[in-house]
Amino acid sequence: MTFNITILGTNAALPVRDSITSAQIVNVHDQLYVVDCGEGMQSKLQKYRIKRNRIQAVFISHLHGDHVFGLPGLLTSYAHFQRKNPIFIIGPKGIREFVETCLRLSQSYIDFEVHFREMEHKGSVLIYEDGKVKVSAFPLHHRISTYGFRFDEMTSGYNIKPEKIKELGLTTDQIKAVKRGDNLLMADGKMILNEEMVYKKTKSRSYVYCSDTAYDERVVEYIRNADVLYHEATYLSDMVVQAKERKHSTVQDAAKIATLAGVGKLVLGHFSTRYLNREDFLIQGKLEFNEVILAEEGKVIEIHLEKNLKL
Ligand SMILES: [Zn+2]
Repeated sequence: MTFNITILGTNAALPVRDSITSAQIVNVHDQLYVVDCGEGMQSKLQKYRIKRNRIQAVFISHLHGDHVFGLPGLLTSYAHFQRKNPIFIIGPKGIREFVETCLRLSQSYIDFEVHFREMEHKGSVLIYEDGKVKVSAFPLHHRISTYGFRFDEMTSGYNIKPEKIKELGLTTDQIKAVKRGDNLLMADGKMILNEEMVYKKTKSRSYVYCSDTAYDERVVEYIRNADVLYHEATYLSDMVVQAKERKHSTVQDAAKIATLAGVGKLVLGHFSTRYLNREDFLIQGKLEFNEVILAEEGKVIEIHLEKNLKL
């Protein structure tokens, strides 16, 4: 059962030569999800042979151009790929107007449904679910409205305990809901947690994406124990002041969040193009958090199931 992340772009602010701004593909059980959509991401889809018709949803962290300018092109190009399936687009308030305005002014027509979900909330909210994955979004601390995303795999391993069906008098629909992993709100108002009703065979794998953001410990509770955390590290330690001013993170900020949240692996990305040698990010990151890697174009980060099997 696949769960991996393919990095397509890692630059902050600007495409440079062949490298592009933020874009990645999350693959959960062979369904694909775009996370941020920098300019030029379509050419990277082709380069890495990613099947664009498998994309179910696009998650946009915020409306700064380096995270969203690839989206209108991605949508209009589907005219050449006979897409019929609907696509979900989730982003901060304004994403719908942005996409619809681009389509209208360029007189582009698409013949599949686009379902928008605009975010304008505090705390962590479940914003997308499709049977393979549940995605929740939480606010980051940036210059405009920005959200981080947590992808939690929906495991197919929920076996309901037979005694609970009798004890709670569950209906067929309620049994289905429990097998999907839902909690149940009973007629008497009592909430029964899913974990009380099922045997869980495998731990759900998880991936969290945080870009762009200043250092903000409020996000730690939403990231806790994720298998992999992608956190922006726009700057090295020489730019602490500028990071604060521009509401971005240094590599030390990212590593601190990874440590506090107890994640399995930290992926650093969204690098300022002022740095020609990105190895320094790895060197400085490892001083604070051992399990750190750099996001690099084309890199596939696998989250393996075996490591998560419950003993
Ligand atoms: Zn930004």
